[in-house]
Amino acid sequence: MMRVSALGQALVRLIYPQARCLCCDEPRQIDVNRPLCGACEAALQDLLVGEDACGHCLSPRAGGQPCAYCAGGGMLGLDQAFAPYVYREQARQLILRLKFGPVELAAQPLAREMALQISGIRFDALVPMPLHSSRLRERGMNQSQVLARLISLQTGYPVLEALRKTRKIRRQSTLPAAARAANVKGALALAGEVKGLQLLLVDDVRTTGATAREAAGVLRAGGAAGVCLLTAAVATGGQHGAA
Ligand SMILES: [Zn+2]
Ligand SMILES: [Zn+2]
Repeated sequence: MMRVSALGQALVRLIYPQARCLCCDEPRQIDVNRPLCGACEAALQDLLVGEDACGHCLSPRAGGQPCAYCAGGGMLGLDQAFAPYVYREQARQLILRLKFGPVELAAQPLAREMALQISGIRFDALVPMPLHSSRLRERGMNQSQVLARLISLQTGYPVLEALRKTRKIRRQSTLPAAARAANVKGALALAGEVKGLQLLLVDDVRTTGATAREAAGVLRAGGAAGVCLLTAAVATGGQHGAA
């Protein structure tokens, strides 16, 4: 009996590999289509970008004050930013799973919320932020591409890999905000025809926004008619422009 039961449990784990919540890692009973436990699902609701955020870049704003991020050039080259979550706690954990965990599983709930942010808005293509080929080999997957593919399934907008990395760049997260623009300068090149297209850049998180501004510059130089940014979350550390 014991052996059968152990085998049964192993089978259940095979069929339902997300027997642990992707956020808190607690072993829990989890719906096969929702990789989070109820507590983390509820916590994520509290991490949705609030009504008081800047309507242009989604940065938090003290009541009535102009947005420091926009004023500092944070949105240079970008028409509009979209993101469901603020980058902290459960949202941050789920996004880290995109990089260091079961990518596809973590991407599903994020992509679902991301697609909702752009409902009713027309884009010609989704452009995933590229990974350098050496990092792609080491990680096996580009999380931005995985998100873009899932969003494409929901919206019907095609994925256009219009950008490529020309050199390896240091992980932005290891650098202070001021050094991030220099780190990505010239690191992206056009890899597809974008003339006249309304494009939506897709990335996992906007921290300083330096990579997105660099990407937008390259796409606009290639003749893109418009460039918006869709991320799963925006960091709100109160960084100015470079943030
Ligand atoms: Zn959980
Ligand atoms: Zn703003």
